[in-house]
Amino acid sequence: MAPDTPMENSRDQILKKRPAYTDILNFYVQVFQAQEENRQQILMAPISIDPSLVEKKLRHDMPLIDSKEFKMDQNAAVQLMTTLCDITQDQHNALSRAAVSLKTAITDSRIDPGQIFDALLNSDGEMLSSFSETIGIRSEHLIMFTYLSMAPCVETCAEQLSRYLENRSHGKEYCPICGNLPDLFFLDDNGKRHLKCSFCSHSWEVDRMGCLFCDSKDPELHPYFFSPEEKEYRVDVCDACRKYIKGVDTRHLDRPFVPKIELVATLHLDIKAKEAGYTGLSDGIPIKEAHVS
Ligand SMILES: [Zn+2]
Ligand SMILES: [Zn+2]
Repeated sequence: MAPDTPMENSRDQILKKRPAYTDILNFYVQVFQAQEENRQQILMAPISIDPSLVEKKLRHDMPLIDSKEFKMDQNAAVQLMTTLCDITQDQHNALSRAAVSLKTAITDSRIDPGQIFDALLNSDGEMLSSFSETIGIRSEHLIMFTYLSMAPCVETCAEQLSRYLENRSHGKEYCPICGNLPDLFFLDDNGKRHLKCSFCSHSWEVDRMGCLFCDSKDPELHPYFFSPEEKEYRVDVCDACRKYIKGVDTRHLDRPFVPKIELVATLHLDIKAKEAGYTGLSDGIPIKEAHVS
């Protein structure tokens, strides 16, 4: 039977080559599909920014907003949080136990998810650990559920804000919408390089040459990992600042390009890069790490 969605199609193609990803990809496809459905229910007025302020920010390569300014449809996000708890409950691991505790804490009104969303938007680590203590789960698990529940709202805001960026180039290593760092790059049909924001998923085009993160232009310092069995993937590293970023060359992709799926399906590349002594850029949101630990 033919797979239904690009996401499922992408997952099935990947699993043919790398069956070790079966559990984690099946899990994330459910999560991403729940997010897609949730996105349809979001009711939110777009964030509006004064045109003169937009002009000023763009002229100085500043992001349009700070992460804490993202708006949330609380009802939609809380609903997604409970759905994600239900999906995770059947996983039979530490994460599924966390899901049960989190859902109970929401139903018992022991916590107010709205306050947890605020704490994450404000990067308030202290508040987040205090909430995780109240719930009785690990902080990284709470952050993971919170981020995944907020993502549709955050991405909707980013999509709306991207209209301010039409016909403007950015070229910097941080997101022009929210200022966060990328978690993936991809090369388009013409070989142009784009970065995908780790927080709001907005993507923007940047120069192909040199390190994005330390201004090093010396080609000798920029080797990349590449495997002939996985022509579609590349890991760019910089020997000047010891950072790495994973990338997808969409010209070598024989499946629909679903960036979030590729991000999950390349955990082996993170391991390889870290073993070689390089550091990731956006290790701040421990989504995948929380799942595998
Ligand atoms: Zn962003
Ligand atoms: Zn560098």
